[in-house]
Amino acid sequence: MEIRGTTKVAMVIGHPITHSLSPVMHNAAFKALRLDSCYIALDVIPEGLGDFIKGLKATNVLGVNITIPHKENAIEYLDELSEEATVLNTVNTIKVTNGRLFGYNTDIVGFERCLEGIDVSKSSALIIGAGGAGKAVAYALCRLNINRLYITNRTEEKGQKLVRFIDKVFNREAQSIPFGQWNLPEAPDIIVNTTPIGMKGIGGSINIPYHIIKKGAMVIDLIYNPPKTELLKTAERLGARVQNGLKMLVYQGAASFKIWTGIEPPIEEMEKAIQEYV
Ligand code: NAP
Repeated sequence: MEIRGTTKVAMVIGHPITHSLSPVMHNAAFKALRLDSCYIALDVIPEGLGDFIKGLKATNVLGVNITIPHKENAIEYLDELSEEATVLNTVNTIKVTNGRLFGYNTDIVGFERCLEGIDVSKSSALIIGAGGAGKAVAYALCRLNINRLYITNRTEEKGQKLVRFIDKVFNREAQSIPFGQWNLPEAPDIIVNTTPIGMKGIGGSINIPYHIIKKGAMVIDLIYNPPKTELLKTAERLGARVQNGLKMLVYQGAASFKIWTGIEPPIEEMEKAIQEYV
């Protein structure tokens, strides 16, 4: 890739940021499409977030992705928000248009793609975790009209807060399950781990009892490194279908790419580039 005076720059900002795979994925897409653009990872300290975002208005930056810990704090500096970003109160994508900053949340659509082929409206689902990703997953499941929803979170109050959020936004009843007790009235059709338990560098495993994972259920772990967590290995052994977080990562990135460029990116190239890294 040759960087020239004409090269447009996109980036992901976070703190820390060196772990991000977004540069690998987006640069693969730019290269495949022969676009005169590049993508970098920039460490922005929390105290400088406002100055950084406001400064974007004076640039020709192609677009910005936002990751931990800035997804919520970025909101106050933006001029307009998509419906999803407004409701979730988090953004992971910024586009600069005519000096105005538009914020989006593409995690929802990224997760929705993980559910392709599943009749969500006839299914029950258990979400493990109620942080930013858990909220996006809950939003996606409710938008797809999930039939029965259970949420379990280490900090129970936060799980209950997500239950209230769902009730307010979708007028839908979800059930908060005390973390580690697994006293669900059924073995759910869909199980999603949205905690970092099992992630490379963090380790551990979710000790979900076998009777909760039924044959044919879809078990999704948002973690993609390692490609198969202990949860996914167990689920596979028990006859469940399993999916790691790679698809969500690629599709949320693809949605950001489309917002910035108006072009559908080459999904396979993006996925291949990431797989070489994990
Ligand atoms: P977050 O907002 O910090 O939320 C973390 C959640 O995990 C909280 O519910 C937290 O519970 C729980 N948790 C953390 N450590 C735990 C532990 N040791 N035991 C039990 N629960 C624990 O983070 P996030 O943005 O939601 O991200 C969560 C995970 O999803 C990360 O692994 C991230 O990489 C992954 N993710 C993947 C994608 C993708 O595209 N594949 C996208 C977004 C996120 P408390 O409320 O009790 O603290």
